[in-house]
Amino acid sequence: MRSRTANRSGIVIRRRVTPAGDIIVTLLTPQGKLKAVARGGVRGPLASRLNLFHHVGVQVYQGPHNDLASVKQAILEGALPRLAEPERYAFAHLLAEFADALFQEGEFSDQAFDLFAGALRGLSHQPDPEWVALVLSHKLLALAGFVQNTAHCARCRAPAPAHPDPLGGQLLCGKCSSLPAYPTEALAFLRSVVRQTVRVSMDAPVPHAQRPALWRALERYVTTHVGDVKSWRQLLPTAAPIASVPA
Ligand SMILES: [Zn+2]
Repeated sequence: MRSRTANRSGIVIRRRVTPAGDIIVTLLTPQGKLKAVARGGVRGPLASRLNLFHHVGVQVYQGPHNDLASVKQAILEGALPRLAEPERYAFAHLLAEFADALFQEGEFSDQAFDLFAGALRGLSHQPDPEWVALVLSHKLLALAGFVQNTAHCARCRAPAPAHPDPLGGQLLCGKCSSLPAYPTEALAFLRSVVRQTVRVSMDAPVPHAQRPALWRALERYVTTHVGDVKSWRQLLPTAAPIASVPA
């Protein structure tokens, strides 16, 4: 393998500081995911630029032997300060973990980049960040190829399922599920979110009281089909009090 230097532009979706003071970042770029290390970065000017959700332009050096590219320079191309607000931050964190779990290194994905960048802008600006996160989570899943069959029961294939699947997060018929059917709005959302544009979904938010069930289904679906996404723990307690309010 030859050594080489490359310039890339992307959004920091993961950031970790090692005991040695290195910053290991994962960027989502239009050319796919890129993982790189800024050696000693925590003590230099890169520390504040390589922050979570920052859009940065980086120069990376890929040595002939080490697997991880080194960040030589980084310039800040864009930041969304409102994402630091606690509620927005939790949802942004969740979507960043989604993107990290769903998209692979080196896989060309300008659509994924555009969708994720749009999701962060929406989380930063929209008055209802939870709704942005629900819509865009489903969109990111679909783009990565995880599309639920909403036309048939996931267990017995009966048509028009309307009940939650407490194990797999899919849709079940009334005979296969012990849970009551989804309310009309939540069911309509699940059936339409993948083929509908983001804008159309954003304009038809599901009432807050119905959202905890959607989050639970999404968590079950992602856990069984994609993998463990740690931010659920951070996010679900904020959704829980809503769940306890009588309908
Ligand atoms: Zn069934």
